[in-house]
Amino acid sequence: MNKDNTVKCAGGFIVQVMPFIEDEVLNKLEANIQKIQSVTSMLDNGHTPEQMLEQVLEELDLEITDTMPAQFYCNCSKKRIEKAIISIGKKEIQEMIDEGKEIEVKCHFCNTAYKYTVDELKELLKQAR
Ligand SMILES: [Zn+2]
Repeated sequence: MNKDNTVKCAGGFIVQVMPFIEDEVLNKLEANIQKIQSVTSMLDNGHTPEQMLEQVLEELDLEITDTMPAQFYCNCSKKRIEKAIISIGKKEIQEMIDEGKEIEVKCHFCNTAYKYTVDELKELLKQAR
């Protein structure tokens, strides 16, 4: 974290072993993981993901065959959330309408909030079962 509470860097790694792994390989992997610095320290020290892998998989014949960019992305939209509201059924939507105020629905993945007015809920009610 930075002093102003913003995120300076974040990272992590997952190592998944194949079935029937030899004990020798597993032991080496465990020993490597024991001696590496935390991911945060490695990132802070300017390590690339490839350099981190070299440490985690030291002496295990690392071969990088492909890389792809990673990003924080959610494909939610007001329209998608509408489908979720419609799917909860007429009774529940009618109850929200009867409350007489706009509702806010948050996406479970990215926490984006979407607001629906009573009029919008009435439209969704028509599409619900
Ligand atoms: Zn989302």
